[in-house]
Amino acid sequence: MPSYQWYQFFAMGSWVLFVTAFGCCVGSLINVLVYRLPRGLSVVAPPSRCPSCETRLTWRENIPVFGWLLLRGRCRFCKSKISPEYPIVEAFVGLLFALFFVLWYWLPPEAIAIHPHDTLLSFRPEWAQNPVTITWPYFVVVLMLLGSLVAMTLVDAKISQIPLELPFFATIVGLIAHPAHAAWVQFASRTGGVAETAPGFTWVIPTPGPDAWWWVGAPIGAMIGLACSIILLRTGLIRRSFTDYEEWERKARESMGDGAPEANTPELWVQYPHARREMLKEIAFLGPVILLGWLGATLAVSLGGSGLSATEVPLWLRAISGSILGYLVGGGIVWGLRIFGSLAFGKEAMGLGDAHLLAAVGACIGWIDSLFAFFAAAFLGIGWELSRRLFSERFRRMLPYGPFLAGGAVLVLLCKPLIELGMTLLLRVPAHQPPINIP
Ligand SMILES: [Zn+2]
Repeated sequence: MPSYQWYQFFAMGSWVLFVTAFGCCVGSLINVLVYRLPRGLSVVAPPSRCPSCETRLTWRENIPVFGWLLLRGRCRFCKSKISPEYPIVEAFVGLLFALFFVLWYWLPPEAIAIHPHDTLLSFRPEWAQNPVTITWPYFVVVLMLLGSLVAMTLVDAKISQIPLELPFFATIVGLIAHPAHAAWVQFASRTGGVAETAPGFTWVIPTPGPDAWWWVGAPIGAMIGLACSIILLRTGLIRRSFTDYEEWERKARESMGDGAPEANTPELWVQYPHARREMLKEIAFLGPVILLGWLGATLAVSLGGSGLSATEVPLWLRAISGSILGYLVGGGIVWGLRIFGSLAFGKEAMGLGDAHLLAAVGACIGWIDSLFAFFAAAFLGIGWELSRRLFSERFRRMLPYGPFLAGGAVLVLLCKPLIELGMTLLLRVPAHQPPINIP
């Protein structure tokens, strides 16, 4: 190997090590969140300690993966067992982060190449054709999304609930990072720096074109509508759905006879008789969102103009509109399915936690990919159900839907170029990928 190749190898290798170590630390934080959030404990204080004897961990024992190995899986003080789940989660997140880094930045673009219609395929999305030194802000957004997806999967699989802090975190990262990154790119291009995020593409996620003011107005208006709905909910003008559920469940359990073990009544919520009525409350909640979305689009077009007479939408505004639209589409499709499903079958279909999860995915990676993730999740769900029937002894437990949505999102992130190629072949349109030329 010539010396510059060695240099490249070591440069990339140290990046991979850094990303892996960062992932292990994120995994360690995920362990804390998964343990503390469902129990309503503070996330920052107190510092990590043994759950049995409450001995504080030393800084060395706090090192991800190695801390557990150092202790050989037992508390230093009381010798009670520490679950291997902790180092496994830490190592998994570290390897997951490293996998995405290697696939997107290290493997040569033609690493996995097939040539139908002269299309070159690799696992690199278009934007990753630029080096990590330029595109790292978006890469960090994806890593933060992956971390929160792992945390949501673990909590949802354990308690069938998603603490809203987890999707909110990823949503806020997406909503802030995209416009901030765009503003920086625009500033840098004025001072002679990089003008584009990906060769031939305006932004890393789908955004409105330079004259599409309606697309800027609609999502921002809808977000204001969402804020109005939340205020109306707080003041009691719109009623919260399923408020009488717990009361109903208590009475239902009583009528079954005192002390009925919970294991004998696993699917009580299915019998709740008012799911259709409760959906009307949720439709009322969505009313202001739709109304103000429409109003926002109209107002933005009248202010910014349309077609050739339109003033150009600044890049940061396009980036935040794209991110908000992703949030609304991702959350909207799950919530829409929940409303239609509940109206059709008369029982609660899909949780609102799932809507928050896919909304966060949309805010980070855009509306198109959040739709793909939704369909990928359906396939994963069907696959799981089939394998559960085949090996019914081993997979007794029914998983909630959150893990499938998270898995669908990861699958879409991994296979985006493959999906694009499939769509290209399916729709018989010219290849979407620009020619690959990396200096
Ligand atoms: Zn202990």
